[in-house]
Amino acid sequence: MTETLFTKIINGEIPADVVYEDAEVLAFCDINPQAPTHILIIPKKPIATVNDIEAEDAALVGKLFVVAGKIAADAGIAEEGYRLVVNCNAAAGQTVFHLHMHLLAGRQLSWPPG
Ligand code: AMP
Repeated sequence: MTETLFTKIINGEIPADVVYEDAEVLAFCDINPQAPTHILIIPKKPIATVNDIEAEDAALVGKLFVVAGKIAADAGIAEEGYRLVVNCNAAAGQTVFHLHMHLLAGRQLSWPPG
């Protein structure tokens, strides 16, 4: 996989406002927030898109949800509600080709998304 700017964030070469980190997962604030809370949750393993997830990644990808729930609980937004979004490829608006989950909260989110 081609290295993306998220690899640079993982390696500390680009600064980020990190809200969670362990050996496998990193979460940091989106630089262009679309809601009062907008956090990106990424695997440290460089997986480009949802299309590139393999069976062996199941636990790692599941962990993104576990971390999302922990971040929401810690931020006090779990009960109010939040949205998790994963864009895959151009038609969905994916711009960084390193798998990432958006966690959005803090305002009423409309449906369907644009
Ligand atoms: P997507 O459009 O789903 O690929 O989302 C990529 C996200 O990465 C966008 O919401 C961007 O605002 C965000 N982003 C791009 N560069 C950075 C950065 N240096 N730090 C934090 N978030 C970033």
